[in-house]
Amino acid sequence: MEKYSRQIILKEIGTEGQKKLQEAIVAIVGVGALGTVAAELLARAGVGKLLLIDRDVVEESNLPRQILFIENDLGRSKAVAGKEKLEKINSSISVEAAAIHLHPKNIDLLNASNLILDCTDNLQTRFLLNDYCGKNQKPWIYAAAIRTQGYVFPILPGKPCLRCFMKQETGETCDTVGVLNTITASIASLQTTLALKMILGEEVKPQLYQYDIWNQEFKTLVVKTNPACPTCQGNYERLYQEQEIRSIQFCSTGRYQIMGKPQNLGAVQQRWEKIGVVRRENGLLQFRNLLLFEDGRAVIKADSEQEAWASYSKWIGN
Ligand SMILES: [Zn+2]
Repeated sequence: MEKYSRQIILKEIGTEGQKKLQEAIVAIVGVGALGTVAAELLARAGVGKLLLIDRDVVEESNLPRQILFIENDLGRSKAVAGKEKLEKINSSISVEAAAIHLHPKNIDLLNASNLILDCTDNLQTRFLLNDYCGKNQKPWIYAAAIRTQGYVFPILPGKPCLRCFMKQETGETCDTVGVLNTITASIASLQTTLALKMILGEEVKPQLYQYDIWNQEFKTLVVKTNPACPTCQGNYERLYQEQEIRSIQFCSTGRYQIMGKPQNLGAVQQRWEKIGVVRRENGLLQFRNLLLFEDGRAVIKADSEQEAWASYSKWIGN
């Protein structure tokens, strides 16, 4: 308890509150600029169990913001590398890693969590979380940051949800805009503070917080339940969508993700080693321009979707 003495002394937390933190299970979806900060703060605060979910690997351009990673982590799964760092930071909590692409068929993985933090960078996953949490009456916290500003919105059972005010995704555009590391750290801090309050049973208002750190502007916006919102009407359509999309472009890195059948990585490794150098680590193979995950996903560096598919067919098969 000496470790947490500065928290226990706070009237907002206390001994009882610290116990609640130790008993909590929090899922962090997306271990990037927001997720690494939120996960580290929760781990250091003594939140008992964390689940890290991320489909991607560490890239050089992540390092200015994604504080759990170091240069030696380049090419490693963010979920796995993040778990490793958190375990070194606080060995008295438990951390699980899932290097997966979250979709309707595997989202039940979140069932054990009391609270979910949205630290993703895409609306597709956010709308899936919105429907999953709506259906299962689970609280979650939306967060996003771009350029020098960001947003946080706690979504509570029976209260306004993300789709009440956010429009459908209009197909991904791949404009790369910049983002400042101080805004991602600040937004993740606000998101984590709300998470701590929710774990402690404090009242949290379902409002949209907006912060521009460059201009020091903080705003609170009221969100109302939209009568036309499908999720609030009990229509959880995103949970029943068939996984028809077989390839996605990761806008942040320009790589393509192709969903394939689960693979026996040992067998694939043997095949590839006859041709070149293969790197293997925790459910992930790296070979040439290609990363292959156990669940059959491949993340491929290519100039077009067609070229990505060609690499997939050549090295993995159809
Ligand atoms: Zn709604």
